[in-house]
Amino acid sequence: MLVFVRRSVFGLLLFLVATLLMVSPASAQRKTESATGPRDFRSKNFLLHTDITDERAKDLLKKLESMLTLVSKYWGQPNRKTIEIFVVEDLNNWAQGRIDPRAIGSLRGGGGLTIAEGVRLGNAFNMNAKSYAVTREGTPLHEAVHAYCSQTFGRTGPVWYSEGMAEMGAYWDPKDPSVNCGEYIVRYIRKSEPKTLNEIINSPETTGDSWQNYAWRWALCHLLANNENYRKRFRPLGLALLQKKKTSFERVYGSMAKEISFEYLFFLNHLERGLRADLCSWDWKAKYARPRRNNSLLSKINAKRGWQPSRLRVKKGEEYQVSAEGTWKIAKNGEPINAAGDDDGNGKLFGILFDDYELSEPFEIGIYGKFTAPGDGDLLLRCKDEWHELIDNTGLMTVRLKRADAPTPLPKPKQLRDAE
Ligand SMILES: [Zn+2]
Repeated sequence: MLVFVRRSVFGLLLFLVATLLMVSPASAQRKTESATGPRDFRSKNFLLHTDITDERAKDLLKKLESMLTLVSKYWGQPNRKTIEIFVVEDLNNWAQGRIDPRAIGSLRGGGGLTIAEGVRLGNAFNMNAKSYAVTREGTPLHEAVHAYCSQTFGRTGPVWYSEGMAEMGAYWDPKDPSVNCGEYIVRYIRKSEPKTLNEIINSPETTGDSWQNYAWRWALCHLLANNENYRKRFRPLGLALLQKKKTSFERVYGSMAKEISFEYLFFLNHLERGLRADLCSWDWKAKYARPRRNNSLLSKINAKRGWQPSRLRVKKGEEYQVSAEGTWKIAKNGEPINAAGDDDGNGKLFGILFDDYELSEPFEIGIYGKFTAPGDGDLLLRCKDEWHELIDNTGLMTVRLKRADAPTPLPKPKQLRDAE
């Protein structure tokens, strides 16, 4: 949650950003060997006051530094000021007055708060942030993103962006762009009626926000930052928001509203830890056609990716031929599998129909033979595998498609001829 309080003091604008972090069901605090009394720890960019053990404090500083390297690289602005952060295991360990009274409520609630205060004159600003966080994994990182943004840009952006990106900072892994938020977030999103983009972006910025709202903001930011169709525009949009340049989500993505809404819902419906938003990016440029009598359409389907264009537009009830040449693997050291799939049906070539931003149920296609179109639409194909396990897949399938009544049938793929 964000609170903006602006007061005019002798012509100067006093600016304060306060951010409360979510209280999640997983926030039961660990009671571990707490070293008594808060101590100070320093690293290149951080001054950490904490009552956790030396070992954990050093470990936390490492995580904070690597997160900061990532976000400052992402936004293209090195951190210039020490970030002061209080990480509290047990409030009883802290002398009265040591913690800003404004932060006590958030800490008691199992969250965090970042307070940035300073002066702003026109475009110039001088902000100093202090972050407060419970020890729960992710909270200090989340608050540190707010502190970095406040001190570097003088603001943290609109709530959906500020909180969505702070949550991303808490989960970011430079070597792994897959979904790695808490399992409770995945469960919550999967069982909820999806919030619309408009609800996330244009909801009133009020205090008393919930971890549920953080989940939606994170989901939107994660998608926009990773999906190949939107990520190029997302970073400049964010920077412009942080620098309060004239821009908005609608201005940047308005022309792609239908596509974003479709991919956003698709992302939510398939959300699980390990999902790769980049590999599921939709190919909006692909052209689809209804083949003439004896023409065939050819596509290459990558085992690693989500639904990919077959280039065939089908009509409900009509019959088509398919011939899928090649093998792929659905595990790092797995056996090569052809488009018929293994004994459990994994690795099988599957299809789905896209029509006017609606998807059919997926259906089996396989290696060779005929299928009847279950509806009208563009046919997309993929290698059947768990959505969170796509990354270790390898191989391309060459897929030919033709009308079933074509005079010349499609050739059998080599994999079938060899078996005969
Ligand atoms: Zn926050």
